[in-house]
Amino acid sequence: MKRGVAPMTISYKDQSVTFEMPGWYCDECDESIHTGDDLKVSDRMLNQLKARQKTNALFNRIEVVRAWALGGGGGVLRRPRA
Ligand SMILES: [Zn+2]
Repeated sequence: MKRGVAPMTISYKDQSVTFEMPGWYCDECDESIHTGDDLKVSDRMLNQLKARQKTNALFNRIEVVRAWALGGGGGVLRRPRA
């Protein structure tokens, strides 16, 4: 086994991210061993992914509300004429 990095992809809901995962990698197969410090890297990526998913979900909701308002639903928001 050799110390190194390899690309790893993790996904959460509709989001995914690929990053360089540090660890001990086998020369002959896909086997790898990760220390606690290595796992902190993937934990951090997963947390970022969750935060991004949350933000996207929020923006999607705002878009729906805006589309409804621009569509004349109540007429609260109107684009100013150029
Ligand atoms: Zn092996």
